[in-house]
Amino acid sequence: MRIDGNCFCGHIRYEAEIDPSMVVICHCTDCQTHSGTAFGVVVGIVNDEFHLLHGKLKTYEKIADSGNVRALAFCPQCGTRIYARTPGDASKFFGLRVGTVRQRDQLKPTRQAWCDSAQDWVQDISAIPRANDQR
Ligand SMILES: [Zn+2]
Ligand SMILES: [Zn+2]
Repeated sequence: MRIDGNCFCGHIRYEAEIDPSMVVICHCTDCQTHSGTAFGVVVGIVNDEFHLLHGKLKTYEKIADSGNVRALAFCPQCGTRIYARTPGDASKFFGLRVGTVRQRDQLKPTRQAWCDSAQDWVQDISAIPRANDQR
């Protein structure tokens, strides 16, 4: 599936080819800290088909919980996370951050990873009172 997206400030714009059946919720502690929230949502990029249309990404390399070196790419101006990949190894998961994809309402998670470190409450957010107008 062909998609496009951008960061929060608009400096980064991209197009990519993704596999919509590979949308994963990641509960690892790196995703919790790096996203500043409870979990990450990523979708697999197919055949390294990620094309930057505008801007220059900054990358930070981190040894992940899995032991792999992961290059985390983000906008140098606003900090929006764009993707994570394993440098030099195309066979490893190349994960695009779903929140930056314009077509994200079509991308439903099919799997959850690193569930041992998931926050207790995330499995039942339907139990939390809902509102549309809370500021
Ligand atoms: Zn930005
Ligand atoms: Zn993760």
